[in-house]
Amino acid sequence: MKRHKNGNKQYFTRMGTRKKVQAFVRVKPTDDFAHEMIKYGDDNKSIDIHLKKDSRRGVVNNQQTDWSFKLDGVLHDASQDLVYETVARDAVSQALDGYNGTIMCYGQTGAGKTYTMTGATENYKHRGILPRALQQVFKMIEERPTHAITVRVSYLEIYNENLFDLLSTLPYVGPSVTPMTIVENPQGVFIKGLSVHLTSQEEDAFSLLFEGETNRIIASHTMNKNSSRSHCIFTIYMEAHSRTLSDEKYITSKINLVDLAGSERLGKTGSEGRVLKEATYINKSLSFLEQAIIALGDQKRDHIPFRQCKLTHALKDSLGGNCNMVLVTNIYGEAAQLEETLSSLRFASRMKLVTTEPAINEKYDAERMVKNLEKELALLKQELAIHDSLANRTLVNYDPMDEIQIAEINSQVRRYLEGTLDEIDIINLRQIQEVFNQFRVVLSQQEQEVESALRRKYTLIDKNDFAAISAVQKAGLVDAEGHLVGEPDGQSFGLGVAPFSIKPGKKSRSKKTLKDQLSSSARKEGASSPVSGKDLDVISISKTQLIPPSSKDGDIKDMFPRDRETSSIEPLPSDSPKEELRPPRPSTPPSKPVAFEDFKNERGSEINRIFKENKSILNERRKRASETTQRINVIKREIDVTKDALNFQKSLREKQGEYENKGLMIIDEEEFLLILKLKDLKTQYRNEYQELRDLRAEIQYCQRLVDQCRHRLLLEFDIWYNESFVIPEDVQAALKQGSSIRPGMVPVNRIVSLGEDDQDRFSQLQQTVLPEGPDSISFYNAKVKTEQKHNYMKTMVGLQQSHRKQSHQ
Ligand code: ADP
Ligand code: MG
Repeated sequence: MKRHKNGNKQYFTRMGTRKKVQAFVRVKPTDDFAHEMIKYGDDNKSIDIHLKKDSRRGVVNNQQTDWSFKLDGVLHDASQDLVYETVARDAVSQALDGYNGTIMCYGQTGAGKTYTMTGATENYKHRGILPRALQQVFKMIEERPTHAITVRVSYLEIYNENLFDLLSTLPYVGPSVTPMTIVENPQGVFIKGLSVHLTSQEEDAFSLLFEGETNRIIASHTMNKNSSRSHCIFTIYMEAHSRTLSDEKYITSKINLVDLAGSERLGKTGSEGRVLKEATYINKSLSFLEQAIIALGDQKRDHIPFRQCKLTHALKDSLGGNCNMVLVTNIYGEAAQLEETLSSLRFASRMKLVTTEPAINEKYDAERMVKNLEKELALLKQELAIHDSLANRTLVNYDPMDEIQIAEINSQVRRYLEGTLDEIDIINLRQIQEVFNQFRVVLSQQEQEVESALRRKYTLIDKNDFAAISAVQKAGLVDAEGHLVGEPDGQSFGLGVAPFSIKPGKKSRSKKTLKDQLSSSARKEGASSPVSGKDLDVISISKTQLIPPSSKDGDIKDMFPRDRETSSIEPLPSDSPKEELRPPRPSTPPSKPVAFEDFKNERGSEINRIFKENKSILNERRKRASETTQRINVIKREIDVTKDALNFQKSLREKQGEYENKGLMIIDEEEFLLILKLKDLKTQYRNEYQELRDLRAEIQYCQRLVDQCRHRLLLEFDIWYNESFVIPEDVQAALKQGSSIRPGMVPVNRIVSLGEDDQDRFSQLQQTVLPEGPDSISFYNAKVKTEQKHNYMKTMVGLQQSHRKQSHQ
């Protein structure tokens, strides 16, 4: 049921199986039947056409001369009665069960469409499908006394894209709406302004039919219409309600009986030796009908071009979909009409490809349903009252709660949450539901309170708002008040995103070492300190599981060329959670490449892991971008090929002389399909292109992350290397006190020289101030340290500035 939607109150009950459209062929009786050209299959379900090669007509040798068409039945010399039984009886009978049905006659003018559909009105025996269908409907209604079935009919003519009501002359037709319009609603398609007539008996229905037929003939004279160019749609609408009051379900259905316009093509064909295959319709709505049929026959197609003309639009819910569909193709049996016969048979075989999914149109009578439910409700309330009195329960109210009752429950829930109320008594289902509801209300209020309390104190940033995050990163991760997570050194380090996606979970081992880096002063500031908060965030990076770390170290490994001379030096033991536990330093520092390996396993393992993760995401996106690019190229090539094919078709059409109707180009099936394909390809191309653009943006973003990460890794490594091997331990100890800055951040040469300067000044100080008493020593000590700290601050600012300059380049 892909192609139609249910209406609000309409339900389709599936028949379960998909069904092919039934296509029959009726051959008009003739004394001049072309036996040698037209042959029927043994089962009467196929027609073979054989065309003699005619040298006089200059027919090209390789032109096709044999065709075979599979059908559901060939009606040759068939009586009107047999035709009805074969073609229409089942569809009409199913219509009374709620299935829509459409029976169409197609063929060239004079081949017997009107004879098949309406029949010869002057002879009862020769009456067609239409009067017989009406008879069957009323007969079946008589046989179903359990149902109240109403029958309505309408008769529509479509001529030159204008709609005519063939029953508008009847006295009881209200003010006519002109012009008539085709309207779609969830229940289907209907013609606004078309009169629909209630008929309670067969005789009424017949007079409507005759009225319509007469109008059809009169109108064709007075309005100078060529009646062979018009389509007539006679519709029987049925609505069946069960006579038992309790059943609120009812079914609706309609049968469309369609007498199509003549399908003949331009008179030019034939004698000029034009290709038989060429399809240039005299009637453009028939060409649109064919396009719709082709689309319906293609399972892959989602869009069916129904709105191209009035005929297909008016029949939108009667072609394919949930209908029983029958086509009668009327053909001549004479040799002279063979080309038209061929094209009619082609239409028939196309129609056979269409599948439908017949389903009952079930509706609900809202009024009856409400009445039934009210009855049911009253009964259940009585039942409950009895139940309560049997269970010795005091009278319980089962009505919906009012505001006061709800407020009481809200207060109960609050007291329960505070702990001042131990239990909430269960009274009835409604009350239980309200209790849960109030839990939700209270919870969401509390959430809001917490959030606004946080907002008053902190600037909160949406974890999913990448723009905001990157803005914060750019700003150095720290906001004006310093509340946000960030680095004290102000570096916009590449893992900046990670802290926003912290997930609760197991803490990694490296946490310990990082935690140990918290300076004693920072620790003293307590847990609420932004600095300690920051460090915890950095630790938590290990828990961002974007993707499993699978990729190799990548280019980081190659950042330091391996030094043969120094590579033999023992690497640091990787298991060194605390500095105190470290083995004594080697007298010569290890080579940087070796130390870097250690660093990555130990102190830098988190950053390294995230670096690798980011890299693998980047690689994955790059791979996807390259795949998308390849797909785009393939589509582009296909577009070029299709364009060429289309141009070829166009030139072919131009060579053979094109046909235009009211400025509308008539094109054949092949070209039509190519146009659709091209459209489809262009959509694909646009979609892929959009995806590539998105991917590129993502790649750029990821690349920046990777770069920042790499930078961070190297920086951390340098700090660690300096701390571990280069800066003398006593200097470090001295620098660390009272400062949150890690000594390794400062270039070694500066520290060393600084240390000397300070040493000098310290001894000088000691000499000058000692006379003031030993108590003053701590004062001066502090002074020296503060000065040292200021020095480092200045150094840091310098470092930051040079770093920012680099990263902005
Ligand atoms: P169409 O509607 O396709 O243009 P008609 O139904 O008007 O063709 O048929 C043209 C003529 O042929 C009419 O006079 C009709 O009575 C006659 N005719 C068509 N089919 C049959 C048939 N099967 N038996 C007898 N007469 C037929
Ligand atoms: Mg006709």
